Amino acid sequence: MTTEKKQLQNIAFIGLGNMGSPMALNLQKAGYNLTVFDVVPEAVKVLVAAGARGAASIAEAVAAADLVMTMLPATQHSKQVYLSEDGVLAAAKKGATLVDSSTINADTAREIAAEATAKGFEMLDAPVSGGVAGAQAASLTFIVGGSVRTLARVQPVLEKMGKNVMHAGGPGAGQIAKICNNMLLGILMIGTSEALNLGVANGLDPKVLSSIIAKSSGRNWALEIYNPMPGVMENVPSARGYIGGFGSQLMAKDLGLAQEAAQAVHAATPLGAAAWQLYQKHIDAGNGKLDFSSIFKLVSTDSK
Ligand code: NAD
Repeated sequence: MTTEKKQLQNIAFIGLGNMGSPMALNLQKAGYNLTVFDVVPEAVKVLVAAGARGAASIAEAVAAADLVMTMLPATQHSKQVYLSEDGVLAAAKKGATLVDSSTINADTAREIAAEATAKGFEMLDAPVSGGVAGAQAASLTFIVGGSVRTLARVQPVLEKMGKNVMHAGGPGAGQIAKICNNMLLGILMIGTSEALNLGVANGLDPKVLSSIIAKSSGRNWALEIYNPMPGVMENVPSARGYIGGFGSQLMAKDLGLAQEAAQAVHAATPLGAAAWQLYQKHIDAGNGKLDFSSIFKLVSTDSK
């Protein structure tokens, strides 16, 4: 057991949903003293059955914690959990380290980090890439904003939940890097869908067209690893009716965050804005829970 692990032996984990539950289970398996809290009591019970201590409130969860990890749905939840009167900043013990792995608005992440620093806490924003499968397999990528020194202390803990820990810059930089990646991914998924649909509408075989693009300059991850057109690849969401994977609703959330970040600095993101609108249209048509590669359905339906 390393010195760092002893320093951060007592961990509070708040937010035990699709991602937080398997992440917390991995910390429990790694031998940390884990105290968990979620507003949904059933979510707490799963971790208690695995040996963690259940708490009935945020204050109880963080009281003895050296490290507080949070994995919450969206910006307003992080704000509430950290900044409310009975929240983490009011109740955590002096000198505790705080890590928010939720994907949230970058300005809010900076605001929470500034308040935390003013109260004497060290804080990182550390959103993740890798989805539920990555959380279960402890193979997530953590994209971290905050001080390098704080990250060095927390890194051994993050490595129990992920394979890659990348420092992006100061407070909020983890959120910005994550949404830059996901904005590009959304654009690439729509572009790949359009190209394949255009080729097929002109009589091409989608497998042949995919293999040609994969050896040409249009190659990209959506085409080669996660092809959105049914029948081209096995073991991807398009091969199973777009069930599972990364929901269109979550992609739309990240595209919306990218637009907020762009507006804050007046950065032009016309394709990001268009991608966000297309995903919203796709969700309005009832596809929010389907994997984000199901945007192919929108592209191919609009063609008819
Ligand atoms: P989720 O909705 O399944 O889980 C969030 C959990 O937080 C829920 O159990 C909820 O009850 C709990 N919660 C909400 N408010 C709370 C509060 N005030 N106090 C305590 N608990 C509270 O969401 P998820 O899929 O686990 O995603 C979590 C975060 O990770 C999101 O920001 C999401 O964008 C991001 N993310 C998700 C994925 C994915 O594939 N699901 C991938 C990468 C990043």
